[in-house]
Amino acid sequence: NHTSLAGRTAVVTGAASGMGAATARLLAAHGARVALLARREDRLKELAAEIERDGGRAIAVAVDVTDQASVDAGAARVHAELGAADLVVNAAGVMLPNPIDDGRADEWTRMIDTNVTGALRIIRAFTADLVAAAARGATADLVNISSIGAHALFPGYAVYAATKAALTHLSASLRTELGPRDVRVTNIEPGLTDTELASHVDNPALGEEGQLGEMFDALGSLSAGEIADLVAYVTSRPRHVNLRQIVVLPTRQA
Ligand code: NDP
Repeated sequence: NHTSLAGRTAVVTGAASGMGAATARLLAAHGARVALLARREDRLKELAAEIERDGGRAIAVAVDVTDQASVDAGAARVHAELGAADLVVNAAGVMLPNPIDDGRADEWTRMIDTNVTGALRIIRAFTADLVAAAARGATADLVNISSIGAHALFPGYAVYAATKAALTHLSASLRTELGPRDVRVTNIEPGLTDTELASHVDNPALGEEGQLGEMFDALGSLSAGEIADLVAYVTSRPRHVNLRQIVVLPTRQA
């Protein structure tokens, strides 16, 4: 029963593709008004048009979560066009594995700045909304998409895994500040999921033509829609029920 999503105001980052796009689509289908945040504005506009064709409400807000001014401008647009948010999903992320010896500081910075600081910039922009929504008795949710990488250990993934461990810990810690004010915090840790994430890997031995491709073949994968389903589930529980941590894997992934 997802009726409690009707009338919610959701902000979804990473909405240009994968889990973020699927989540935005599903929340909108259940009656939430959705702000779509990512860098590729053409993708966001297409998705917003699709949602509105289907009778929903969505706005495309081009935002780079690594850029504070961009986040500030995006948040101002959300507030002007949809009002205060009561549901925030941090799905924006990048995964750029490489051996530590390669010393790819450019990739480390991108991952940390997107997966950790980017999520924090979004949290900073919308926490006051969530707290205010909860204070007036509404349901308020912060959902962070972390990864099984927060726990699983793979060579080449040290920095990505560290960013996801940080996000998982951030989610758990934030509950101590937000939970007492009735704002739920949910951390979701997916395993292999069929999205664009792997296509950005620049090391052929580790990417879709190499190790990751082999893992997808051997283990199967979740769909982005299956992660969206979980987000819709946790955010539509009665407001005193907080599923704080979900690990979801393809059945064959150990
Ligand atoms: P995608 O690559 O399809 O989605 C990532 C999204 O993040 C894109 O929409 C991208 O849009 C957006 N994004 C990237 N950088 C920025 C930025 N600087 N500012 C704003 N938006 C940004 O992959 P997924 O859907 O798989 O990824 C969603 C989350 O799930 C990520 O955090 C990922 O780490 C996590 N995850 C994925 C798993 C998988 O197997 N796929 C497993 C576990 C966790 P744009 O490029 O237009 O900005």
